[in-house]
Amino acid sequence: MTRPEASETCRALHVAPLQRDYERLTWQEATPRADRIRVREHTCSCRNISYELCQAGGLVFVRRIYRSDSVVVHETDWLQVGDAERLWMRILLGQAY
Ligand SMILES: [Zn+2]
Repeated sequence: MTRPEASETCRALHVAPLQRDYERLTWQEATPRADRIRVREHTCSCRNISYELCQAGGLVFVRRIYRSDSVVVHETDWLQVGDAERLWMRILLGQAY
């Protein structure tokens, strides 16, 4: 039984290819606005760009982490849980970037 190597090493989520009519999101500089931020879900760090669904108190936002020579972190607006979860799904499906 042979398996592609990726399935051995990548157990996290991977973002689908960007859809043709994707929604362009507004990404802001990440600012420390809360002491405790809990990462609820994250995409695989095998890609240059990975995402984290973060919760701080009652608000949720998505963090985008771009790794090249350095690490650049942006985040979306902080949203109500339902809105943020819908946004997270759209990002995973390649419908928003
Ligand atoms: Zn991976």
